Amino acid sequence: MSKRVVGIEDTRFVLFDQLDVEAFFGFERFSAHSRETFEMILDAAEKLATNEFAPTNKLGNKSGCVWEDGVVRVPGCFHKPFAKYIEGGWLALPESEEVGGQDAPYTLHFACCEFFYAANMALQIYLGNTHSAGRVIKAYGTPEQKEKYSVPLYACRYAGTMTLTEPQAGSDLGNIRTKATLREGNVYSISGQKIFITAGEHDLADNIVHILLGRVEGDPEGTKGLSCFIVPNVKVLEDGSLGERNDVVCTGIEHKMGLKASSTCSLTFGENGQCEGEMLGPRGMGISVMFHMLNEQRILVGLQGLAQASRAYLDALEYAKERRQGRKFGSRSFEQVPIIEHPDIKRHLLWMKSCTEGMRSLILYTMQCMDLEMVCEDAQEKQKWQDMVDILTPICKAYSTDRSYEICARAMQILGGYGYCEDNEVEQYARDTKITSIYEGTNGIQALDLFGRKLRMRGGEVYRTFLGQVKETVLKASKVEGLSWYAEEVYKAVSALEEVTEFLLGKNATEEAYLATSWATPYLEIFGDVVLGWQHLWRAMAAAGKMESAAPAEKVFYESKLMTARYYIGSVLPGIYGKIEAINMNDKALLEVQTDHLI
Ligand SMILES: Cc1cc2nc3c(=O)[nH]c(=O)nc-3n(C[C@H](O)[C@H](O)[C@H](O)COP(=O)(O)OP(=O)(O)OC[C@H]3O[C@@H](n4cnc5c(N)ncnc54)[C@H](O)[C@@H]3O)c2cc1C
Repeated sequence: MSKRVVGIEDTRFVLFDQLDVEAFFGFERFSAHSRETFEMILDAAEKLATNEFAPTNKLGNKSGCVWEDGVVRVPGCFHKPFAKYIEGGWLALPESEEVGGQDAPYTLHFACCEFFYAANMALQIYLGNTHSAGRVIKAYGTPEQKEKYSVPLYACRYAGTMTLTEPQAGSDLGNIRTKATLREGNVYSISGQKIFITAGEHDLADNIVHILLGRVEGDPEGTKGLSCFIVPNVKVLEDGSLGERNDVVCTGIEHKMGLKASSTCSLTFGENGQCEGEMLGPRGMGISVMFHMLNEQRILVGLQGLAQASRAYLDALEYAKERRQGRKFGSRSFEQVPIIEHPDIKRHLLWMKSCTEGMRSLILYTMQCMDLEMVCEDAQEKQKWQDMVDILTPICKAYSTDRSYEICARAMQILGGYGYCEDNEVEQYARDTKITSIYEGTNGIQALDLFGRKLRMRGGEVYRTFLGQVKETVLKASKVEGLSWYAEEVYKAVSALEEVTEFLLGKNATEEAYLATSWATPYLEIFGDVVLGWQHLWRAMAAAGKMESAAPAEKVFYESKLMTARYYIGSVLPGIYGKIEAINMNDKALLEVQTDHLI
């Protein structure tokens, strides 16, 4: 039997049993779909991921990308799965029919994307960026720009990038120096240098379209003066055919710890004064335009983390069932037993499973909120779903990616010495996933976003919407037979979160604001732990609801969901109380330690 690459059974459980995505079919936009079409799409995605993407993951890592005189070649083995992906029309799955899409909910699109990232993250990244580029042009472009760029992007004839970073402007985008000078109409001369641009140059598509942040000459300093531009590698003529090469040069690619088959490019724009770009969206609103792309990308990066974690868990689980070492606990027999029987290994596996499944529920739920925000007509409902997306985005991004690295490290631990060696892929998952905590806004920046911005958004209303949703689940679960303990524990945890939030926000309004802000990352971890506790409570409710009518084989499956929820809520979630106690101590060492003390 071939190795499992994706956790499709749990994806089905989240979509159909927990989130009840069949309710989508009642909305006009999704009315062409049914349970059957959803199932067919999931199965087809699993097959493509397992049969075409996965076999090229390790090969791609070995050969990596090659740069030569400005040209970048991806591993040769990527071309076939890339072509199959295009042939299947996967990129435009959630888009409308007029751009070749199937009007599927983003929830389903992300569920499929998880499979592709799990199978081959480096390859899927070329596609994820392309979709986001098409989407931002669809949202902010003129009708001509949509026709010229979005359509070929959705068809994967062109590939997309997000082009922000410069040597002096990483987290601090206000320092961007790339310059734009008006030529005529909407066309600008672009000049500047960008670094670390994913898929900035490669040979998978006919053209590469950069969504670039720059500053029109004379516009204010800082983020407020930035504008967004569409800059293609090859100029696109009015009839849609390709013209001459734009003045964009790839001057090199990075040699990285992981994701070796994803090109990370240094690019110069306008070295010869001939680089043309079209402004996208209003002048000076570049950050808002880019955030349309960034917000989707941030959840997508959380999904990349989840995908690597899930694959690492599946590999570790299989290995732990086969590898025999040591004796049965408490036995005198010399017979070796599978390592899965040892308490320490079982604990690692349960921890990995509970975090992975909780993260899957969180991310797919966040996408469901995004879909509902798009299709609901009632203004209050719309606002509620938007609030949920706003507050959960930094959790999807930062919590899932930090956990992902830990899960991959634990998978290596379970494989022992073999986990450290290249014969197995788990060391690659760990190397590949590390970047997810760094790009699309580092996890430190995500923590500041949650603590400094999201908690106060709409005068605290966004945070209160979140609390309301959690408490609604707690109330429902408390009435389900056998779940009152689960509900009480989650209620205790959410109450503790409320108290620590109040404490930190209070300190943040005093001269101790620096100290309060220093807790932003542990605070995000606590928040994330509570969110996963909530998701597990919801999962337990879904499983309990299915138990009675389930066939014997299905019963084991639903029992496993209840057990996993119990483990998370009883053994992982209480970890928040130690972290909260440390915050409540309000020790001022961090304030008193000077830079000179850090020797
Ligand atoms: C493989 C790879 C792919 C990438 N792909 C892209 C891409 O496609 N497009 C693109 O534009 N960029 C891309 N990047 C760049 C990436 O987004 C940046 O590396 C990232 O935003 C961090 O910027 P930096 O590396 O300059 O780190 P810095 O901004 O120098 O940050 C260093 C550390 O300081 C912390 N820090 C910084 N400012 C603050 C603050 N105000 N408060 C608290 N802590 C702070 C950070 O959290 C981090 O821990 C990529 C990078 C890599 C390595």
